[in-house]
Amino acid sequence: MNDRFLEGRTALVTGSTSGIGLAIARALAAAGVRVAINGLGDAAQIDAALSSVRTAGAADARHFDADLRDPAQIAAMMQAIDAWSPLDVLVNNAGIQHTAALADMPPERWDAILAINLSSAFHTMRAALPGMATRGFGRVVNIASVHGLVASVQKAPYVAAKFGLVGMSKVAALEYAASGTRDSGGVTVNCICPGWVETPLIEPQIEARRAGGSREDGVRALLGEKQPSLRMSLPEDIAALALWLCRREAHNMTGAALPIDGAWTAQ
Ligand code: NAD
Repeated sequence: MNDRFLEGRTALVTGSTSGIGLAIARALAAAGVRVAINGLGDAAQIDAALSSVRTAGAADARHFDADLRDPAQIAAMMQAIDAWSPLDVLVNNAGIQHTAALADMPPERWDAILAINLSSAFHTMRAALPGMATRGFGRVVNIASVHGLVASVQKAPYVAAKFGLVGMSKVAALEYAASGTRDSGGVTVNCICPGWVETPLIEPQIEARRAGGSREDGVRALLGEKQPSLRMSLPEDIAALALWLCRREAHNMTGAALPIDGAWTAQ
């Protein structure tokens, strides 16, 4: 399926200097897209992400700097991208985690998680969707989580943000459902809801379960709690679905929250 069906299109993947976002940027690049990457990191990490996206086949690639906690920086980033090339594909992927019981959750962690994992997607979608509707083609892929479908202890802000992202995506899917045509591909808005994926984000949770053993012991304990497949996804596994959602024939797949969770939410 590695044809260049996105040639001539432009995509933004937030939080694409690492993990799932970088894998999605690379998958879109292989389909010929012009890729705007965004995310934190020092110059070396950003250069490495850009060159990996170019090597994957991007028609062009640039880093657009914005701390997604700040709506003014998001607005400036969206304007700069629009001046570069209007957006056809928007992947809201950036996210952070902090685990603690609700009563012990620092309020500033609540604010940061809600800002990055939920509000940033509102700001980017608000800017990008009208142009997509005018052009008759647009894809919004929001990286939610299994925690947008079910809860776990010690994750109040993360679960609140991800449920919010699933809900907001359904509203946007409804509002833009009739945009474009079957031939143009329409405008769709979906969430992908991964269970455990092998990225830096979950390392503290693996570490917390090592109990003096190896990292593999920590991984086994983590998977054993909730993910019946007992195997983690790779970032590339999530990217493959994000890429498929961008195809023309996915024009009627909208408003969905798609788990990739080893049967976690089947329980
Ligand atoms: P990661 O830590 O590897 O990457 C997170 C990305 O977000 C990085 O590029 C980082 O720079 C960026 N980011 C963080 N704060 C930012 C800010 N203030 N402004 C701009 N960018 C910022 O994590 P990941 O696991 O690849 O997570 C990506 C998404 O997938 C997140 O939304 C996460 O909630 C979700 N997710 C991850 C898992 C998992 O098991 N890893 C499971 C379900 C959902």
